[in-house]
Amino acid sequence: MSLLDRKYTTKPVGVSPKARSLAVSHSMRSNKRSGTKPELVLSGLLKKKILQNHLPGSPDFVFPRTKLAIFLNGCFWHRCPIHAKALPNTNAPFWRRKFERNAERDRLNREELESMGWRVLEIWEHDVKERPRETAARIKAAVRESYPISSRTSKSKTARVS
Ligand SMILES: [Zn+2]
Repeated sequence: MSLLDRKYTTKPVGVSPKARSLAVSHSMRSNKRSGTKPELVLSGLLKKKILQNHLPGSPDFVFPRTKLAIFLNGCFWHRCPIHAKALPNTNAPFWRRKFERNAERDRLNREELESMGWRVLEIWEHDVKERPRETAARIKAAVRESYPISSRTSKSKTARVS
């Protein structure tokens, strides 16, 4: 078979199990990779650097003066209700356990932060991708709401999320 012939050979249609698991690992990889991108978008809009911190769950953005912690949650790992309905095809029980542990860890981190007097705002990755300015505005509003505390009437301590 010449190179020219090979060029026109047809490829099988459909998804093999191997391709499917590749698709899963690709979605995880790209998720991890693009996971940094919404952070950078938000970082730019908020004019705020992403700094390492040692708070529970290491929130993506922290406003120490107002004690506001922002978590930017990836749709895949944190099981966003819009984009992460189905479990990966392969090894569903493993993933279910893994996602349950993630959710539990998120909850414990949130509780620990709140017990330390922090307010926690959780932002979905898709909020940043679809409505970056609106999302940044929501965060800025949450910062304003709690700052300066003395000149404002104290409202609800918990920030509403989406
Ligand atoms: Zn989502």
